[in-house]
Amino acid sequence: MKIILAGPRGFCAGVNMAVESLQLAIEAFGTPIYVYHEIVHNKHVVERFRDRGAVFVDDLVEVPEGATVMLSAHGVAPQVREQAAQRRLRTIDATCPLVTKVHLEAVRFARDGYPIVLIGHAGHDEVIGTMGEAPQAIALVETVDDVDRLDLPADAPLAFLTQTTLSVDDATRIIDRLKERFPTIVGPRKDDICYATQNRQQAVRTLAPEADVVLVVGSQNSSNSQRLREIATEQGVPAELIDGPDDLRADWFADQAVVLITAGASAPESLVQECIAWLQARYNATVQSRSIRDEEVYFPLPPPLRDLPS
Ligand code: SF4
Repeated sequence: MKIILAGPRGFCAGVNMAVESLQLAIEAFGTPIYVYHEIVHNKHVVERFRDRGAVFVDDLVEVPEGATVMLSAHGVAPQVREQAAQRRLRTIDATCPLVTKVHLEAVRFARDGYPIVLIGHAGHDEVIGTMGEAPQAIALVETVDDVDRLDLPADAPLAFLTQTTLSVDDATRIIDRLKERFPTIVGPRKDDICYATQNRQQAVRTLAPEADVVLVVGSQNSSNSQRLREIATEQGVPAELIDGPDDLRADWFADQAVVLITAGASAPESLVQECIAWLQARYNATVQSRSIRDEEVYFPLPPPLRDLPS
Protein backbone atom coordinates (compact mmCIF):
# COMPACT_ATOMS: atom_id res chain seq x y z
CA MET A 1 0.00 0.00 0.00
CA LYS A 2 1.06 3.54 -0.70
CA ILE A 3 -0.22 6.49 1.32
CA ILE A 4 -0.18 9.93 -0.28
CA LEU A 5 -0.30 12.53 2.48
CA ALA A 6 -1.92 15.68 1.13
CA GLY A 7 -0.70 19.12 2.06
CA PRO A 8 -1.87 21.57 3.18
CA ARG A 9 -4.18 19.66 5.53
CA GLY A 10 -5.49 19.97 9.06
CA PHE A 11 -5.46 22.97 11.37
CA CYS A 12 -5.78 26.39 9.72
CA ALA A 13 -4.70 29.68 11.32
CA GLY A 14 -8.19 30.35 12.71
CA VAL A 15 -8.44 26.94 14.38
CA ASN A 16 -4.89 27.22 15.74
CA MET A 17 -5.78 30.58 17.27
CA ALA A 18 -9.06 29.30 18.78
CA VAL A 19 -7.54 26.12 20.23
CA GLU A 20 -4.55 27.99 21.67
CA SER A 21 -6.92 30.60 23.12
CA LEU A 22 -8.98 28.00 24.96
CA GLN A 23 -5.86 26.26 26.28
CA LEU A 24 -4.47 29.55 27.58
CA ALA A 25 -7.80 30.65 29.02
CA ILE A 26 -8.10 27.43 31.03
CA GLU A 27 -4.57 27.94 32.36
CA ALA A 28 -5.05 31.64 33.12
CA PHE A 29 -8.61 31.76 34.43
CA GLY A 30 -9.22 28.20 35.64
CA THR A 31 -12.29 26.04 35.16
CA PRO A 32 -15.10 25.81 34.54
CA ILE A 33 -14.72 27.96 31.49
CA TYR A 34 -17.73 28.23 29.22
CA VAL A 35 -17.58 28.06 25.43
CA TYR A 36 -20.45 29.24 23.25
CA HIS A 37 -20.86 26.47 20.63
CA GLU A 38 -18.13 23.96 19.82
CA ILE A 39 -14.81 25.84 19.85
CA VAL A 40 -14.14 24.23 16.45
CA HIS A 41 -16.16 21.55 14.68
CA ASN A 42 -14.15 18.52 15.76
CA LYS A 43 -15.35 15.81 18.12
CA HIS A 44 -11.90 14.95 19.51
CA VAL A 45 -10.92 18.57 20.15
CA VAL A 46 -14.20 19.23 21.93
CA GLU A 47 -13.97 16.05 24.04
CA ARG A 48 -10.38 16.81 25.08
CA PHE A 49 -11.34 20.29 26.23
CA ARG A 50 -14.45 18.96 27.98
CA ASP A 51 -12.18 16.60 29.93
CA ARG A 52 -10.07 19.59 30.94
CA GLY A 53 -13.02 21.56 32.33
CA ALA A 54 -14.51 23.42 29.37
CA VAL A 55 -18.32 23.55 29.35
CA PHE A 56 -19.85 23.90 25.90
CA VAL A 57 -23.22 25.67 25.75
CA ASP A 58 -25.65 26.56 22.97
CA ASP A 59 -27.38 29.29 24.97
CA LEU A 60 -25.75 31.93 27.21
CA VAL A 61 -28.51 31.48 29.83
CA GLU A 62 -26.58 28.32 30.77
CA VAL A 63 -23.58 30.48 31.78
CA PRO A 64 -23.65 31.84 35.36
CA GLU A 65 -23.56 35.64 35.62
CA GLY A 66 -20.02 36.98 35.80
CA ALA A 67 -18.40 33.78 34.47
CA THR A 68 -15.88 33.60 31.60
CA VAL A 69 -17.20 32.62 28.18
CA MET A 70 -15.30 32.07 24.94
CA LEU A 71 -16.96 32.59 21.58
CA SER A 72 -16.07 29.91 19.04
CA ALA A 73 -14.07 30.34 15.82
CA HIS A 74 -17.29 30.43 13.75
CA GLY A 75 -18.43 33.81 15.06
CA VAL A 76 -21.72 34.90 16.61
CA ALA A 77 -24.54 37.30 15.92
CA PRO A 78 -24.33 40.71 17.64
CA GLN A 79 -27.32 39.73 19.79
CA VAL A 80 -25.15 37.09 21.47
CA ARG A 81 -22.50 39.69 22.36
CA GLU A 82 -25.23 41.93 23.78
CA GLN A 83 -26.60 39.06 25.86
CA ALA A 84 -23.08 38.34 27.17
CA ALA A 85 -22.70 42.00 28.18
CA GLN A 86 -26.09 42.00 29.93
CA ARG A 87 -25.07 38.92 31.92
CA ARG A 88 -21.76 40.62 32.82
CA LEU A 89 -19.77 37.74 31.32
CA ARG A 90 -16.05 38.04 30.75
CA THR A 91 -16.08 37.40 27.00
CA ILE A 92 -13.10 36.14 25.04
CA ASP A 93 -13.78 36.31 21.33
CA ALA A 94 -12.03 33.54 19.37
CA THR A 95 -13.85 34.32 16.11
CA CYS A 96 -11.59 33.75 13.11
CA PRO A 97 -10.65 37.13 11.57
CA LEU A 98 -11.70 35.80 8.16
CA VAL A 99 -15.23 35.23 9.50
CA THR A 100 -15.20 38.70 11.06
CA LYS A 101 -14.32 40.07 7.61
CA VAL A 102 -17.57 38.59 6.23
CA HIS A 103 -19.54 40.09 9.14
CA LEU A 104 -18.07 43.51 8.40
CA GLU A 105 -18.96 43.19 4.72
CA ALA A 106 -22.55 42.32 5.70
CA VAL A 107 -22.74 45.37 7.96
CA ARG A 108 -21.32 47.63 5.24
CA PHE A 109 -23.64 46.39 2.47
CA ALA A 110 -26.69 46.60 4.73
CA ARG A 111 -25.73 50.13 5.84
CA ASP A 112 -25.42 51.14 2.18
CA GLY A 113 -28.96 49.87 1.53
CA TYR A 114 -28.19 46.65 -0.36
CA PRO A 115 -30.30 43.54 0.09
CA ILE A 116 -27.73 40.75 0.55
CA VAL A 117 -27.70 37.21 -0.80
CA LEU A 118 -25.61 35.00 1.47
CA ILE A 119 -24.38 31.76 -0.12
CA GLY A 120 -24.05 29.20 2.65
CA HIS A 121 -25.48 26.23 4.51
CA ALA A 122 -28.63 26.73 6.58
CA GLY A 123 -28.11 26.13 10.27
CA HIS A 124 -24.29 26.36 10.21
CA ASP A 125 -22.97 28.39 13.17
CA GLU A 126 -21.11 30.78 10.84
CA VAL A 127 -24.21 31.43 8.71
CA ILE A 128 -26.36 32.06 11.79
CA GLY A 129 -23.77 34.57 13.04
CA THR A 130 -23.42 36.39 9.73
CA MET A 131 -27.18 36.60 9.18
CA GLY A 132 -27.52 38.06 12.66
CA GLU A 133 -25.56 41.14 11.53
CA ALA A 134 -28.40 42.24 9.23
CA PRO A 135 -31.34 39.85 9.60
CA GLN A 136 -33.77 42.06 7.65
CA ALA A 137 -31.39 42.45 4.71
CA ILE A 138 -29.98 38.93 4.18
CA ALA A 139 -31.51 36.06 2.19
CA LEU A 140 -29.74 32.68 2.28
CA VAL A 141 -29.20 30.59 -0.87
CA GLU A 142 -27.69 27.11 -0.86
CA THR A 143 -28.05 26.11 -4.53
CA VAL A 144 -28.41 27.46 -8.08
CA ASP A 145 -32.12 26.56 -7.83
CA ASP A 146 -32.42 28.82 -4.78
CA VAL A 147 -31.03 31.66 -6.90
CA ASP A 148 -33.68 31.00 -9.55
CA ARG A 149 -36.36 31.21 -6.88
CA LEU A 150 -35.29 34.67 -5.67
CA ASP A 151 -38.24 36.98 -6.23
CA LEU A 152 -36.38 40.17 -7.16
CA PRO A 153 -36.28 42.33 -10.32
CA ALA A 154 -33.20 41.85 -12.54
CA ASP A 155 -32.01 45.40 -11.92
CA ALA A 156 -32.45 45.26 -8.13
CA PRO A 157 -29.49 46.69 -6.24
CA LEU A 158 -28.06 43.57 -4.67
CA ALA A 159 -24.92 42.29 -2.95
CA PHE A 160 -23.64 38.75 -2.29
CA LEU A 161 -21.44 37.19 0.35
CA THR A 162 -20.30 33.61 0.94
CA GLN A 163 -19.66 31.33 3.89
CA THR A 164 -15.90 30.79 4.31
CA THR A 165 -15.92 26.99 4.00
CA LEU A 166 -17.92 26.36 0.82
CA SER A 167 -16.90 24.23 -2.12
CA VAL A 168 -15.11 26.63 -4.48
CA ASP A 169 -16.79 24.95 -7.49
CA ASP A 170 -20.31 25.09 -6.01
CA ALA A 171 -19.86 28.72 -4.97
CA THR A 172 -18.59 29.66 -8.43
CA ARG A 173 -21.66 28.09 -10.07
CA ILE A 174 -24.00 29.96 -7.71
CA ILE A 175 -22.18 33.27 -8.14
CA ASP A 176 -22.22 32.88 -11.93
CA ARG A 177 -25.98 32.32 -11.83
CA LEU A 178 -26.44 35.34 -9.55
CA LYS A 179 -24.49 37.49 -12.01
CA GLU A 180 -26.60 36.19 -14.91
CA ARG A 181 -29.86 36.99 -13.17
CA PHE A 182 -28.71 40.21 -11.50
CA PRO A 183 -26.00 41.79 -13.69
CA THR A 184 -25.47 44.73 -11.32
CA ILE A 185 -24.90 42.56 -8.24
CA VAL A 186 -21.86 43.56 -6.17
CA GLY A 187 -19.78 41.48 -3.80
CA PRO A 188 -16.31 40.80 -2.53
CA ARG A 189 -13.65 40.67 -5.27
CA LYS A 190 -14.22 36.94 -5.84
CA ASP A 191 -15.79 35.25 -2.84
CA ASP A 192 -15.15 34.91 0.88
CA ILE A 193 -13.99 31.30 0.82
CA CYS A 194 -10.89 31.35 3.00
CA TYR A 195 -7.35 30.47 1.98
CA ALA A 196 -7.34 27.29 4.10
CA THR A 197 -10.54 25.94 2.56
CA GLN A 198 -9.28 26.70 -0.94
CA ASN A 199 -5.85 25.15 -0.40
CA ARG A 200 -7.20 21.91 1.14
CA GLN A 201 -9.72 21.58 -1.69
CA GLN A 202 -7.07 22.24 -4.35
CA ALA A 203 -4.80 19.57 -2.85
CA VAL A 204 -7.58 16.96 -2.99
CA ARG A 205 -8.56 18.02 -6.52
CA THR A 206 -4.93 17.62 -7.62
CA LEU A 207 -4.05 14.38 -5.84
CA ALA A 208 -7.30 12.35 -5.70
CA PRO A 209 -6.99 11.08 -9.29
CA GLU A 210 -3.84 9.20 -8.23
CA ALA A 211 -5.67 7.39 -5.42
CA ASP A 212 -7.98 4.37 -5.07
CA VAL A 213 -9.45 5.63 -1.80
CA VAL A 214 -9.49 9.03 -0.10
CA LEU A 215 -9.63 9.40 3.67
CA VAL A 216 -10.67 12.76 5.06
CA VAL A 217 -9.98 13.10 8.77
CA GLY A 218 -12.64 15.38 10.23
CA SER A 219 -15.99 15.40 11.98
CA GLN A 220 -19.39 15.05 10.33
CA ASN A 221 -20.40 18.58 11.34
CA SER A 222 -17.26 20.12 9.83
CA SER A 223 -18.36 21.89 6.67
CA ASN A 224 -14.91 22.14 5.09
CA SER A 225 -14.24 18.43 5.78
CA GLN A 226 -17.52 17.45 4.11
CA ARG A 227 -16.53 19.49 1.06
CA LEU A 228 -13.18 17.63 0.83
CA ARG A 229 -15.01 14.30 0.79
CA GLU A 230 -17.40 15.58 -1.90
CA ILE A 231 -14.56 16.81 -4.12
CA ALA A 232 -12.91 13.38 -4.08
CA THR A 233 -16.25 11.66 -4.78
CA GLU A 234 -16.98 14.03 -7.67
CA GLN A 235 -13.77 12.78 -9.28
CA GLY A 236 -14.98 9.20 -9.05
CA VAL A 237 -12.75 8.20 -6.13
CA PRO A 238 -14.42 6.56 -3.11
CA ALA A 239 -13.95 8.83 -0.10
CA GLU A 240 -14.65 8.41 3.60
CA LEU A 241 -14.95 11.12 6.24
CA ILE A 242 -13.65 9.70 9.52
CA ASP A 243 -13.15 11.09 13.00
CA GLY A 244 -10.06 8.96 13.54
CA PRO A 245 -8.59 5.45 13.38
CA ASP A 246 -11.53 3.87 15.22
CA ASP A 247 -13.68 4.54 12.14
CA LEU A 248 -11.36 2.74 9.70
CA ARG A 249 -12.67 -0.49 8.13
CA ALA A 250 -10.48 -3.12 6.53
CA ASP A 251 -12.93 -3.71 3.65
CA TRP A 252 -12.19 -0.21 2.28
CA PHE A 253 -8.62 -1.22 1.40
CA ALA A 254 -6.60 -3.72 -0.61
CA ASP A 255 -2.88 -4.48 -0.18
CA GLN A 256 -1.96 -2.61 -3.36
CA ALA A 257 -4.21 0.39 -2.78
CA VAL A 258 -3.06 3.98 -3.08
CA VAL A 259 -4.70 5.88 -0.22
CA LEU A 260 -4.84 9.67 -0.19
CA ILE A 261 -5.13 11.12 3.32
CA THR A 262 -6.13 14.68 4.06
CA ALA A 263 -7.70 16.42 7.05
CA GLY A 264 -10.23 19.19 7.49
CA ALA A 265 -9.21 22.52 8.98
CA SER A 266 -10.33 21.53 12.49
CA ALA A 267 -8.82 18.01 12.60
CA PRO A 268 -5.68 17.51 14.74
CA GLU A 269 -2.56 16.09 13.05
CA SER A 270 -2.27 13.45 15.81
CA LEU A 271 -5.39 11.74 14.38
CA VAL A 272 -3.89 11.73 10.89
CA GLN A 273 -0.75 10.07 12.26
CA GLU A 274 -2.84 7.48 14.13
CA CYS A 275 -4.64 6.61 10.89
CA ILE A 276 -1.29 6.23 9.11
CA ALA A 277 -0.04 3.94 11.90
CA TRP A 278 -3.22 1.83 11.54
CA LEU A 279 -2.59 1.36 7.81
CA GLN A 280 1.12 0.73 8.25
CA ALA A 281 0.48 -1.95 10.87
CA ARG A 282 -1.89 -3.85 8.55
CA TYR A 283 -0.56 -3.17 5.05
CA ASN A 284 3.08 -2.22 5.52
CA ALA A 285 2.17 1.08 3.85
CA THR A 286 4.76 3.57 2.64
CA VAL A 287 4.10 7.29 3.01
CA GLN A 288 4.71 9.99 0.41
CA SER A 289 4.10 13.63 1.47
CA ARG A 290 2.79 15.83 -1.35
CA SER A 291 2.11 19.50 -0.68
CA ILE A 292 0.68 21.78 -3.33
CA ARG A 293 1.36 24.99 -1.40
CA ASP A 294 3.01 26.39 1.72
CA GLU A 295 0.87 28.21 4.26
CA GLU A 296 2.29 30.88 6.51
CA VAL A 297 -0.82 32.48 7.97
CA TYR A 298 -0.97 33.38 11.66
CA PHE A 299 -3.68 35.14 13.63
CA PRO A 300 -2.92 36.86 16.96
CA LEU A 301 -4.64 35.74 20.15
CA PRO A 302 -7.74 37.72 21.15
CA PRO A 303 -7.66 40.16 24.05
CA PRO A 304 -7.30 39.64 26.97
CA LEU A 305 -5.15 36.57 26.21
CA ARG A 306 -2.57 38.45 24.17
CA ASP A 307 -1.87 40.68 27.19
CA LEU A 308 -1.21 37.84 29.65
CA PRO A 309 2.27 37.83 31.22
CA SER A 310 4.33 35.09 29.53
S1 SF4 B 1 -11.46 27.45 7.91
FE1 SF4 B 1 -10.88 29.52 7.24
S2 SF4 B 1 -12.49 30.89 8.06
FE2 SF4 B 1 -12.64 28.91 9.16
S3 SF4 B 1 -11.38 29.18 10.99
FE3 SF4 B 1 -10.03 28.31 9.41
S4 SF4 B 1 -9.04 30.11 8.43
FE4 SF4 B 1 -10.84 30.84 9.56
